[in-house]
Amino acid sequence: MSTIGDRIRSLHEELHEGVHLCAVSKFHPAEAVREAYDAGQRIFGESRVQELEAKIPELPSDILWHFIGHLQTNKVKKLISLRPAMIESVDSWRLLAAIDKEAEATGFVARVLLEVHVAEEETKTGFSHEEVLEYFGRQGFNDLKATHICGIMGMATNTDDEARIRSDFHRIADTFLAIRTLCGDSLIGFDTLSMGMSGDWRLAVDEGSNLVRIGSAIFGLRNY
Ligand SMILES: *Cc1c(COP(=O)(O)O)cnc(C)c1O
Repeated sequence: MSTIGDRIRSLHEELHEGVHLCAVSKFHPAEAVREAYDAGQRIFGESRVQELEAKIPELPSDILWHFIGHLQTNKVKKLISLRPAMIESVDSWRLLAAIDKEAEATGFVARVLLEVHVAEEETKTGFSHEEVLEYFGRQGFNDLKATHICGIMGMATNTDDEARIRSDFHRIADTFLAIRTLCGDSLIGFDTLSMGMSGDWRLAVDEGSNLVRIGSAIFGLRNY
């Protein structure tokens, strides 16, 4: 049986230079995070504000916490007070504005990714390709006071169809590259493309991901 540490070390070996690993520790205890930390892992992903708040004081302060879950506007204040390294799951302009307002008020620069959806399912959260292109086309980010948009986060359709997963990642990468082309030098530090989870991260990296979010393949199955 491999341990959490073994799995972290083998992922670090397999991920090539420039592709970062976010170890998704949601629903797993602080001790599991500690094992991964001791194997050299520093970026961890959490999807609930309360759980993140509980874990932070139990763990080393040099951990870079990424928030990856759906964020309700009424939790923004608390999340910003926890000083996350990245909020990967900004899925509405209203949420972006709330983050920016709170970050400015508390003297913090929020680093965020915009979540885009490609899957046709109605329930998918996030922005469409057209919506984000329109925003960057008019340089909407110039209105932000204390928020830095560092890139895009996306998920492929939940399916066994590998061709479909690959084409979803391809489309998300397309959105990312289209924004960079559109904005050119007016957009600084827009360099993160977060795609890929336990079951599909190799395909995501093939399609250009430079941040993979891996949970169950490191920590095992979650008990919700
Ligand atoms: C839970 C979660 C992951 C990790 O999923 P695994 O399949 O366990 O690797 C990645 N990204 C997001 C947004 C998640 O909510």
